[in-house]
Amino acid sequence: KRAIGPRSLHGSECHLPSVQVDRYLYQLRLSDEVLLDVAARFQAEMVKGLGRDTNPTAAVKMLPSFVRALPDGSEKGDFLAVDLGGSQFRAHQVKVFDDGKQSSQLESKFYPTPKEVTQGNGAELFDYIADCLSDFMETKNLKQKKLPLGFTFSFPCKQTKLEEGVLLAWTKHFRVRGVQDTDVVSSLRRALHKHQASSDIDVDVLALVNDTVGTMMTCGYDDQRCEVGLIIGTGTNACYMEEMRHISLVEGDEGRMCINTEWGAFGDDGALDDLRTEFDRELDLGSLNPGKQLFEKMISSLYLGELVRLILLKMTKEGLLFNGKVSTALLTKGKIEMKHVSAMEKYKEGLSNTKEILTELNLFPSEEDCVAVQHVCTIVSFRSANLCAAALAAILTRLRENKKLLRMRTTVGIDGGLYKTHPKYAKRLHKVVRRLVPTCDVRFLLSESGSGRGAALVTAVARRLAAQRRRLDAALAPFLLPPGVLLEVRDKMRAELEYGLKRETQGQATVKMLPTYVCGTPDGTEKGKFLALDLGGTNFRVLLVKIKSGRRRSVQMYNKIFAIPLEIMQGTGEELFDHIVQCIADFLEYMGIKGARLPLGFTFSFPCRQASIDKGTLVGWTKGFKATDCEGEDVVDMLREAIRRRNEFDLDIVAVVNDTVGTMMTCGYEDPNCEIGLIAGTGTNVCYMEDMKNIEIVEGNEGKMCINTEWGAFGDNGCIDHIRTKYDREVDEGSLNPGKQRYEKMTSGMYLGEIVRQILIDLTKQGLLFRGHISESLRKRGIFETKFLSQIESDRLALLQVRRILQQLGLDSTCEDSIIVKEVCAAVSRRAARLCGAGLAAVVEKKRENRGVEHLQITVGVDGTLYKLHPHFSRILQETVKELAPQCDVTFMLSEDGSGKGAALITAVAKRLHNVGQK
Ligand code: ADP
Ligand code: MG
Repeated sequence: KRAIGPRSLHGSECHLPSVQVDRYLYQLRLSDEVLLDVAARFQAEMVKGLGRDTNPTAAVKMLPSFVRALPDGSEKGDFLAVDLGGSQFRAHQVKVFDDGKQSSQLESKFYPTPKEVTQGNGAELFDYIADCLSDFMETKNLKQKKLPLGFTFSFPCKQTKLEEGVLLAWTKHFRVRGVQDTDVVSSLRRALHKHQASSDIDVDVLALVNDTVGTMMTCGYDDQRCEVGLIIGTGTNACYMEEMRHISLVEGDEGRMCINTEWGAFGDDGALDDLRTEFDRELDLGSLNPGKQLFEKMISSLYLGELVRLILLKMTKEGLLFNGKVSTALLTKGKIEMKHVSAMEKYKEGLSNTKEILTELNLFPSEEDCVAVQHVCTIVSFRSANLCAAALAAILTRLRENKKLLRMRTTVGIDGGLYKTHPKYAKRLHKVVRRLVPTCDVRFLLSESGSGRGAALVTAVARRLAAQRRRLDAALAPFLLPPGVLLEVRDKMRAELEYGLKRETQGQATVKMLPTYVCGTPDGTEKGKFLALDLGGTNFRVLLVKIKSGRRRSVQMYNKIFAIPLEIMQGTGEELFDHIVQCIADFLEYMGIKGARLPLGFTFSFPCRQASIDKGTLVGWTKGFKATDCEGEDVVDMLREAIRRRNEFDLDIVAVVNDTVGTMMTCGYEDPNCEIGLIAGTGTNVCYMEDMKNIEIVEGNEGKMCINTEWGAFGDNGCIDHIRTKYDREVDEGSLNPGKQRYEKMTSGMYLGEIVRQILIDLTKQGLLFRGHISESLRKRGIFETKFLSQIESDRLALLQVRRILQQLGLDSTCEDSIIVKEVCAAVSRRAARLCGAGLAAVVEKKRENRGVEHLQITVGVDGTLYKLHPHFSRILQETVKELAPQCDVTFMLSEDGSGKGAALITAVAKRLHNVGQK
């Protein structure tokens, strides 16, 4: 255990009186062990103050300040500030420049705060402030200007917004009647208003700011790392940036908010009683607010002189000083002030100051008395620094733990007369803090012109944030799609579905409504071994599917995933199909079934016009594919030719299947009520069982056939252009198929990330993000993948992790940036889910009308990674369907490995029917 305190300052030249004083005042000397214990107690107090249920009885109130952001250098303008709560009242004019040099100009005027003001009544106090402000504006020629004003009010206030705060209790030397429990901002506004009538000052009170917060903001303007504000002056207090999710008294979980701890009240519930001495108790009893602000009374400059006086008085009475002779001055409250203590502790000046001060108090000090008194001062002010360091250590530790860091670099902004003028205080404080929290590299930054500039900055930041919010809202507004617009989308989709089915309109229809020649769902009698291919999105897969019927009904699958390199997706058709056949050969080899001529189902997830189940002409590539010489060709023929070219094995291609159909079939195998298949993956598409009589382009009126809607092309005729944003147009123009698949480009995995990237670029250009700097990586198309939306929007993710994700993308974000990015992601994915839901509502409504029922029960089979992995997409989609098709009761069934299995099932059904036909 290392004893810390005055002795270490004296080193070997330890005077006898010092040792005596040490012994006499041992209770004021606190070891590191004790200080760490105080830090632990204060940590517990903070937790108590932050909790909704524990706050009402907490001594340390942990007041939300509604300050959510530090200055970022883009603030500018002229501001006024008034500062009440320190030893003097001040008015300031602050000019803030956004010149990239973080500069500001400050002009101030000081006004006295006589006892009539600090201990009179409320109306007088606020009139006085208004008078001073009016005088200040007069001298600075500011009348007639409408200026925003920040009100630094350094007393505990319960704030409900930035510009509203109810005074909880007066502290320090203030005790003004009729102000407690009222909103001080409206009182100030009223007083200013009265003035407005008689003179012509016009100010707008925009922010109520505690001096700690002002200090943090001032220092934060110069040092982005500053996240703690500390005052050690007339009073003492600290604030710091707390995570919103830990602040149960304020709505919302995102980001941080500055908490004004009001740590002066630490100990008011007895938590520090074991450390308080008889002198502390005596001092408290003689104060304006007995029992209150007990921690403050051990620390701040308003009380230290008085503590010294009480100690000297007792020591004298006991005959330890001044030959036991007490002077009237020593008996008088307030006779020793902080300035005396500071002067006496100027060890460099020897004992002359001490001697002079004591003589003025009519004490007749000997040399020994002076040494002893000097030592008393040191013990008292050192205890103050020690206690302050302990509580600050608790805050720093909490900050570090909030950030989940093992080591942390941070800056503490400090203001206050004691810290600034006492000859040793700052050094002692720094040293003890660094010893108590070795895991934090702390920079202590003295706030120049502290709280006045700070209040102006709070006001400036508030103005900046409000302006930013407006512009952000404006950028994201087109993504909101009010219910009426969504209904319109549903109805337009419904109309397009009809056009695609009708013979006269089908030629021009954008939603192609392609017949699939799949006329029934599986009945469970399917069996055999099949090969399946799945081409159409991110991966290409080859599968071997073994289907058993009857009592041992089951499906077994073996599959292998192959990548399709970009140069093949966008090379020639021959290369593409040769590559596919190469993959099949690998798979057959791998499974050891090269000799068997297995029936094959080909899941090909692009729009194909089919004339039978095993014929499909590619209408056009979508998503990431653009191989030449394929459009207008039969994909089955192209596959057969590639197999022939390779001349190594033969396959019996039975069916070409869209992935939506495969998904519907897979789910249909489990649930016969499944008559719709939905894909929300790389692209988006839907199929459903349509009555043959409604499909005019296919002969026959009996039964049903599955229609592949190819709804991704919805809007290609411009019918939803009014809801497309400029970001959608950018994404479209940068895509492989400009002007095509407009609905798909607003709703599917291949594009959502890219929409987000476009918005981020725009917001950055507007200066709302990344400090206006568009990084190289943000310029890269495709860098923002849709999987990042899923990660960023995950509810379990703290903002810090969002920042880490962005960092991996080369985007250096602040806390505020990451909140905005998350908001952008949410807007984009939410719109996607709602648009998709509106489309699906049209399909289920159509099914309901086909069946002619009041209420429809139906199952939708779904596949696609966007649907499966995005944290909110599926829920919002389902909610939207419920909203827009209230007469349909829709069950969503996830297809496990949908499209491959489905292709095999369709092949099995086709094979069965084919065999029946041959017999
Ligand atoms: P496909 O549609 O190509 O058959 P998937 O259904 O697996 O294949 O969808 C793949 C697409 O899903 C990717 O292109 C990507 O856009 C998107 N995606 C991938 N991971 C995620 C994720 N974690 N959350 C949301 N979307 C994702
Ligand atoms: Mg797929």
